[in-house]
Amino acid sequence: MKSEPDNCVYIVGAGPGDPGLMTARSLELVASADVIYYDRLIPPTALDGARPDAELIYVGKRPGVVNVPQEQIIERMIESARRGLKVVRLKGGDPFLFGRGAEEAEAVREAGLEFEIVPGVTAGIAATAYAGIPVTHRQDSSAVAFVTGHEDPAKPGGAVDWPALAAFPGTLVFYMGISRLAENSAALIAGGRPADEPAAAIQQGTMPTQRVVVATLATIAAEVEEQEIKAPALIVVGKVARRREELKWFEQRPLHGRTVVVTRARAQASGFARTLRSLGAAVVELPAIAIEPLIDSDEVSEAARSISGYDLLCLSSPNAVELFFEALSRNGLDARALAGVRIAAIGPGTAAALRDHRIEADIVPERSVAEGLVEALDGTEMDGRKVLIARAEDARNVLPEALTGRGASVNVVALYRTVRDTPESHSLESAGDAGWITFTSASTVENLLAAMPDGLPPAARIVSIGPITSEAIRRAGLEVAAEAARHDLDGLLEALLADFRTTTRGT
Ligand code: SAH
Repeated sequence: MKSEPDNCVYIVGAGPGDPGLMTARSLELVASADVIYYDRLIPPTALDGARPDAELIYVGKRPGVVNVPQEQIIERMIESARRGLKVVRLKGGDPFLFGRGAEEAEAVREAGLEFEIVPGVTAGIAATAYAGIPVTHRQDSSAVAFVTGHEDPAKPGGAVDWPALAAFPGTLVFYMGISRLAENSAALIAGGRPADEPAAAIQQGTMPTQRVVVATLATIAAEVEEQEIKAPALIVVGKVARRREELKWFEQRPLHGRTVVVTRARAQASGFARTLRSLGAAVVELPAIAIEPLIDSDEVSEAARSISGYDLLCLSSPNAVELFFEALSRNGLDARALAGVRIAAIGPGTAAALRDHRIEADIVPERSVAEGLVEALDGTEMDGRKVLIARAEDARNVLPEALTGRGASVNVVALYRTVRDTPESHSLESAGDAGWITFTSASTVENLLAAMPDGLPPAARIVSIGPITSEAIRRAGLEVAAEAARHDLDGLLEALLADFRTTTRGT
């Protein structure tokens, strides 16, 4: 591992918005920082990997709000670094490209401290790529210029030389170019740039909300106004802009521009959310539940220590698998303790969690509910057998009752309980546009309703993982738009996509 100097400030680019465009180095630094000073235009999940005890300080500019002045940001960063903290300054795109990264690095050096610059994928490269506009092309453009569109072209002695820019032999990419778009286009045309040259505006490039309009230099300002394209947006001027017609790809993904609410516990939601995002959806994670482990109890320790004396171990969820192995390990044991024990998983998700521990479940029912497991165990002799059921505290009693009824000696241990988690208010706000809400258990239904006292977003269609969850949804007076045939996350995704196809057919 690279050893890092003390008293160092890391000036880090976080890319243009798509979390997948954060560099490996930026993720590493976010994960190890003591304190992170971050801007407004960083990816929505950029700070997810930060340490729970890291201090996260918002220093972005927001219209209509008193902003932290630049000098004060620098002062506070330097002070943090002097206290020996690992300081990360996280910025949108690239820190040196219209990012004031250089000013901050200079001040850090002046203060006698060290810095590292971590480049980021800049909007001018990324938003254009996601819009299907190549900034260079062998036939259209052999140079590209990144320009600020913020300068008033009428101002004498301004930083941008408009006649020279108009004569530039290649693509022009304007940052911060929306508010002065009309003046800027006029200045380019006055400088000799053809009025019918293709021009494009890209709003929120690389995000699920990306919107693009293509027009000409003469018409782009009117078009942007009519289509209500707002900052953050880039303006691209050059023949390459017309390549979008052939090269557009990002908006073609099935769920582009749709919002899906995911209500699982924080740690479990990420894989599912990632799949939805890769299909183009804007995912709002509302962790309505959290998992509280209970593996410190005497009952759990006792069960773990005596596991080799059982005939059958039933595991009721992927959480139960993880926590059971944790309990084994805390008692000085490992997978070998399970050598002679048959293992039943409640469904494919639980079986997959076992496989991560290199264990193949002996029994996996087709329906991932307790009743399904009871059926799947039909052919297994129960009379006089010792069975351990490891599960959530609040689980139903279908399985223990059925197996006890067949003569087994059943021990039930609770490895965890699900508790209510309160979603953050900004997530609740973004959920307002939801096209779909997915529920993975009855408790997620109850807890989300408690977190949204005014009711769920009106346009949202509700997708349920299975019959027990659907029952809770109906009990709350809501309609189930789709129910998964397979009661795991793959099944849930399939149900959502099927519902999406039905509801959008013909539109
Ligand atoms: N350092 C950043 C730019 C900061 S200036 C970078 O390298 O990308 C802020 C401007 O960047 C915005 O006004 C907008 O013009 C542009 N911008 C940033 N993110 C963007 C995005 N996702 N889509 C389109 N433009 C973006």
